[in-house]
Amino acid sequence: QTVFIPRELDVTEGRVAASPDTVKRMAGLGFDIIVEKSAGKASRITDEDFTRAGAAIGKAADAAKADVVLKVRRPTDAELKGYKKGAAVLAIMDPYGNDAAVAALAKAGVTAFAMEFMPRITRAQSMDVLSSQANLAGYQSVIDAAGEYDRALPMMMTAAGTVPAAKVFVMGVGVAGLQAIATARRLGAVVTATDVRPAAKEQVASLGAKFIAVEDEEFRQAETAGGYAKEMSKDYQARQAALTAEHIAKQDIVITTALIPGRPAPKLVSAAMVASMKPGSVIVDLAVERGGNVEGAVAGKVVTSANDVKIVGHLNVPGRVAASASLLYAKNLFAFLETMIDKDTKQFAIDRSDELAKATMLTDGGSIVHPTFAKAAQ
Ligand code: NAD
Repeated sequence: QTVFIPRELDVTEGRVAASPDTVKRMAGLGFDIIVEKSAGKASRITDEDFTRAGAAIGKAADAAKADVVLKVRRPTDAELKGYKKGAAVLAIMDPYGNDAAVAALAKAGVTAFAMEFMPRITRAQSMDVLSSQANLAGYQSVIDAAGEYDRALPMMMTAAGTVPAAKVFVMGVGVAGLQAIATARRLGAVVTATDVRPAAKEQVASLGAKFIAVEDEEFRQAETAGGYAKEMSKDYQARQAALTAEHIAKQDIVITTALIPGRPAPKLVSAAMVASMKPGSVIVDLAVERGGNVEGAVAGKVVTSANDVKIVGHLNVPGRVAASASLLYAKNLFAFLETMIDKDTKQFAIDRSDELAKATMLTDGGSIVHPTFAKAAQ
């Protein structure tokens, strides 16, 4: 059985879906592995690194031989044409709002797994691509903010005088936000943070940052059984905005990471809040690809407001630390692939009754099988 790892076609995508380590492990499971030439280049993995680990180097057309295709991004229609019917494709499928693309996966007859739907249960922790990539995005958001900021982040007491510590406010403290807090703290900033989930409060405190939120009854109910945030009422959002407006005016750096699964990102920073900040302040909007948390943020751009506040809207932030992101992503995919090896036959065989396969499978046997998207397609 053959696994194929293509070079990602998107020009902004530096990540690759396998590493020398996972190639070695897949070979250990009995797979033949073909990696497309230069697939690891932008992640600092050479073709020789892959061959030493046991892969063959091939071309895009080798996808036709694959029983399993490992990818970072959802395959394009052109890529799908080259896949075998019945091939398993593991990728970040980004299916929300992309009905035509989901239909194309079904039409191609592939068994497509959306890695971002991996349940957040203990057994699947090692397969959690959202966490592995968001963690790096949170780190990189602070590095990007520091790069755009004209001042130092830590307090510096020198013979020539004292530089005050930068004030950093993190909005949304899931995986990315927690790492942003930790990174900003390591750089010596004074950090505050907000979230609508009560569980976040303790986590923020444990990282040495101060928690700020409207803590009413709605806040106490804001976490879903899956651990995600609910979309808050208009009334809550208005009170949240009033509380944070005053705070944001005093901040040097604001990092926003707030997301709600399957919904547009909540608007948390208004144009008026941006206008209230000091010139030279920096805002990084990590939610920009999902509509953005910040009014005026532009996907793929760093824009400067009329009062000289920089709003950073980089796309694919984990891809900005591609070499690290690829190693973790590859490991996530391998951990999931390993669950699909039949214990008796030692062959690759998808167990369609397994809860992980059920939660992540988008298309199978020519149909859309994921309940969320099957309904929409009818
Ligand atoms: P996410 O990317 O979906 O959202 C980021 C954060 O934004 C969340 O903390 C969310 O509460 C917050 N948010 C949403 N609306 C907001 C608003 N209006 N104002 C402020 N903040 C808002 O979240 P995530 O990083 O995927 O984490 C979601 C949950 O999953 C967390 O509870 C996290 O601890 C948990 N988690 C569990 C596991 C596991 O058990 N294996 C792994 C990773 C994450």
